Amino acid sequence: MTANYMNKRIIDSFGRQHSYLRISLTDRCNLRCFYCMPEDGVKLIDKPNIMTMEEIVAISKTFADLGVDTIRLTGGEPLIRKDFEELVRELARLGVSLKLTTNGILLDRFFDLFREIGLNNVNISLDSLDKARSVFINKRDYFDRIIANIHKAIDLKMNVKLNIVLIKGVNDSEIPDFIDFTRNKNITVKFIEFMPFKGNHWDWGKGVSRDNVISTVESHFGTIIPLPNPKHSTSLNYKVYGHAGSFGIISTITHPFCSECNRIRLTADGKMKYCLFANAETDLLTPYRNGRSIDEIIHEAIQLKKFSRDGMVDKMEPEHYEQNRTMNSIGG
Ligand code: SAM
Ligand code: SF4
Repeated sequence: MTANYMNKRIIDSFGRQHSYLRISLTDRCNLRCFYCMPEDGVKLIDKPNIMTMEEIVAISKTFADLGVDTIRLTGGEPLIRKDFEELVRELARLGVSLKLTTNGILLDRFFDLFREIGLNNVNISLDSLDKARSVFINKRDYFDRIIANIHKAIDLKMNVKLNIVLIKGVNDSEIPDFIDFTRNKNITVKFIEFMPFKGNHWDWGKGVSRDNVISTVESHFGTIIPLPNPKHSTSLNYKVYGHAGSFGIISTITHPFCSECNRIRLTADGKMKYCLFANAETDLLTPYRNGRSIDEIIHEAIQLKKFSRDGMVDKMEPEHYEQNRTMNSIGG
């Protein structure tokens, strides 16, 4: 190992320190949301190339030694990994803050575990409060289980955020219903602008902008109250007067939030992505399997990070994002 890389913070050429790692535990999923896993099929990672539990823990430890203090477990669907419980127990020993993004189907199996290890932050994807619409988006019928698990998580006083990808003409009519959901519940609903990835037939004509969400909420509920935005927050956050919960908007397309970006992604096959939209990937798993130290590789990779959206500054470019992975494989 090059000694001067050990325990050194991961800082890019714009001075941004990277302290937040999102790990895709698997690219497999028990849903097929059309904006994420295109129906015409996605190529899945060959099983031997998927990181084992030991490899995930060891690579995460390297990141923690380099200043990562928060790890979000995502996928694909992270809860379908057979060794999920053991894995999360091992990761909890690293002393980082663990968070989870899930579709919620299997959550009830893990509530006790989460309480025991102190995992309290859970983002649950729910694109519709209407069963038929939800099944149309997810292409599978688990709606009742997801709703039941969302209510259980709220009852257990977990910090629950609902993720909603807004698609025009599909679920945008439900913006007021989701805001209503925050009336008596101390949860956050996060509206996400539809983003382009390989094969997901992205077209901004199908997207719903941040400004559109704000004007819709104001027209139904009156003046909204801006909430403080933590430094690395990826959403603009608001509250409707008198509501127990709040709402946020992730506006990657119309108002990207790259200037304070502190995120790194690790795919299920052990490739580091320094940006959600980066086509370049840095293999950490092969060097790790070959017994090499990966500190220096991480530091060199982060220097390549561009300021915003991997260089797609003014617009999203098909010739660029079609070279990226599908979202289930990146780990959104
Ligand atoms: N399966 C888990 C879930 O759905 O929460 C975790 C993985 S999923 C890829 C993570 C998040 O990415 C979800 O909230 C999902 O809605 C979001 N996502 C997937 N494709 C997207 C797209 N094209 N644009 C915006 N968000 C997307
Ligand atoms: Fe699966 Fe999540 Fe993608 Fe839906 S958004 S297909 S639940 S990985």
